Amino acid sequence: YTRYEMLDLVVIDGRARGIIARNLVTGKVERFAAHAVVVGTGGYGNAFFLSTNAMTSNGSAALQVYKKGAFFANPAFAQIHPTCIPVQGEHQSKLTLMSESLRNDGRIWVPKKKEDAEAIRKGKLKPTDIAEENRDYFLERRYPAFGNLVPRDVASRAAKERCDAGFGVGNTGLAVYLDFEEAISRLGENVVRERYGNLFEMYEKIVDDNPYKTPMMIYPAIHYTMGGIWVDYELQTTVKGLFCIGEANFSDHGANRLGASALMQGLADGYFILPYTIQNYLADQIRVPRFSTDAPEFEEAEKQINEKINRIMSIQGKRSVDSIHRELGLVMWDFVGMARNKKGLEHALERIREIRKEFWSNVFVPGKADDLNTELEKALRVADFIEIGELMARDAILREESCGGHFREEHQTEEGETLRNDKEFAFVSCWKYNGEGEEPSLFKEMLAYEFVERDQRNYKA
Ligand SMILES: Cc1cc2nc3c(=O)[nH]c(=O)nc-3n(C[C@H](O)[C@H](O)[C@H](O)COP(=O)(O)OP(=O)(O)OC[C@H]3O[C@@H](n4cnc5c(N)ncnc54)[C@H](O)[C@@H]3O)c2cc1C
Repeated sequence: YTRYEMLDLVVIDGRARGIIARNLVTGKVERFAAHAVVVGTGGYGNAFFLSTNAMTSNGSAALQVYKKGAFFANPAFAQIHPTCIPVQGEHQSKLTLMSESLRNDGRIWVPKKKEDAEAIRKGKLKPTDIAEENRDYFLERRYPAFGNLVPRDVASRAAKERCDAGFGVGNTGLAVYLDFEEAISRLGENVVRERYGNLFEMYEKIVDDNPYKTPMMIYPAIHYTMGGIWVDYELQTTVKGLFCIGEANFSDHGANRLGASALMQGLADGYFILPYTIQNYLADQIRVPRFSTDAPEFEEAEKQINEKINRIMSIQGKRSVDSIHRELGLVMWDFVGMARNKKGLEHALERIREIRKEFWSNVFVPGKADDLNTELEKALRVADFIEIGELMARDAILREESCGGHFREEHQTEEGETLRNDKEFAFVSCWKYNGEGEEPSLFKEMLAYEFVERDQRNYKA
């Protein structure tokens, strides 16, 4: 079933009993019955339009199960990765990640003088023209103990801070340098090539610049979503018989994620937890006979999906799916991205509502529904990204503190670092869907620390 996309969850008597999926080749909407359903459909970073995620990664399945009763936890918690190839212009549909490992040897800097940065942006100076004493290695300066190896959220915010202050490079001013000059002189070009040759080659192919000779340019981008479907320790959601694993659930990372831990979670959930816990559930179901897909719940779910598809196909408006997705992504990036504040988030909520209206009245999907139709696939996902975007903004407004990847500008230390408020916000926010046009309800799962003490992060000393 590789070319199938799940479009809805079927719940019978409060238990997950199957799914509705669309055959992406024929366009046929089909029913699948099961004693339990496992959702492992990845994160929702593509709500931002431009992200490092694969194009088929989408939050649709998570949103569908949320609408069928599964709680959505911490939707605001998204990770921004500092070392992505910067946005080049309006033609892009995705961003490329330069591996984190590059920060082992690369040094991140911007010009110390604004006039140098401006001259670089205008193409009048090259980075190699900037003398060593006129370079600001801002991570080494701000975080002497960790330097270029500070965690992703810290490195990302520091790069944004420099660019916002007018020191950014590249033609947009939204880029900083990742420089290997020192590593090459210390280790030799061959060692650097052995360590990072494939990445340098990839960079050169995309940017048409040789990173052995001139520093790479990087800028933060959306990379991972820590929030997701709420699960218990058995990886079961608030809908009985519905399990959620991997990036699609909220379980392991809190407000932040350290490098490599996502694949570890994928392995842990898929190999070590679910195969055992799902048996606990199925053991009780052993006397329940197979379900027929003729059950009225299947019929109703399929009917609703077909109605949704027909509604989208019948709009025949003037906007392409991508143009609406891009508009949503810009709102998400500007107001629900690396730095958030109440006013901006409220503005984002307003804009997202406008975008929803625009989508449902002016989207154009060519072709037919009962055929291969990638525009229709995208449209179904964008409809869901709009809902996810709204939920993210709502959750980010609620959380009046900064923690991990969630940075509220109103809540920062004098040095611009995250300022948590454990007294009021040491909880997982769990959102329950209440129907179209209704506000979701918030449930709080309080965090209890038995073996470790909570503390403020410090990468300076
Ligand atoms: C560029 C990049 C580099 C990364 N590097 C690392 C790393 O070095 N270390 C690390 O730990 N993590 C890394 N990550 C994160 C890690 O790869 C992901 O978190 C992890 O792959 C998530 O696994 P998953 O199985 O939960 O979801 P995914 O790998 O996203 O798989 C979900 C699958 O579900 C499918 N799907 C989605 N919706 C539906 C639907 N409705 N119906 C049917 N199928 C659907 C998708 O097509 C996809 O095949 C990286 C991520 C990116 C983007």
